[in-house]
Amino acid sequence: MKIIADFSKTFTTPTSKSTWSSFYNSWLFPAEYMTERDRLYELNYHYETAGNWSEVSRWFGEHLALMHRFEVTEHVREVLDICESAGTLLPREWLHEFLDACISRGIPIQIVSSGITELIEWFWQKYDLPRHESISIVANPIEPVWIPGVPTLAPGSKFEVYTPDTDSEDIVVIGDAHGDFSIAWAIYGWPGAKFRGFSFSDVEAYPGVVALGKNVGMETLSARILRS
Ligand SMILES: [Mg+2]
Repeated sequence: MKIIADFSKTFTTPTSKSTWSSFYNSWLFPAEYMTERDRLYELNYHYETAGNWSEVSRWFGEHLALMHRFEVTEHVREVLDICESAGTLLPREWLHEFLDACISRGIPIQIVSSGITELIEWFWQKYDLPRHESISIVANPIEPVWIPGVPTLAPGSKFEVYTPDTDSEDIVVIGDAHGDFSIAWAIYGWPGAKFRGFSFSDVEAYPGVVALGKNVGMETLSARILRS
């Protein structure tokens, strides 16, 4: 078995903010950064609501370049401390135990996030989450500087990182939003009616997919995945 997992609101609490907005809401960065970030948001947010992922990918790249310009990575630890005090970016209960269990059972985890790589890596350190060669992160790095034309990971284009394996792997996708399941769709095909009315308030049963909603803890997820 292999797990492909989202990060925001899947490994963090359902009320946590995204990694992008954690930087913005820290109020650590100069007014020029905030103004430019707002300008990019105003210009591009409609692409996200329309599901135009190539434009969202470009927008994310421009925002990464802006973050690079303001040396945001120098302050990732401070951002995380502010988020901890405000309770806006916290690990889900049972995350530690879940990761330990996967490591001990030899179940690799690939985190596929349209968030910020550096923040996720520091989050791992801050909360002393287990590290192992079987846990990898694919997200959007601020460093080195983003190059125009290079795609970033957008919420609805996560499936692009998935390349089918030659041997038929048993893959479980966990996440909290439809975009996360584009990977499951790439693997298992469009589940059609089964996904209509998909509720994220509970663990849903669909082969290869676990949705984590507000009312579901890692404890339930662990039991479900690890009993296999
Ligand atoms: Mg999420």
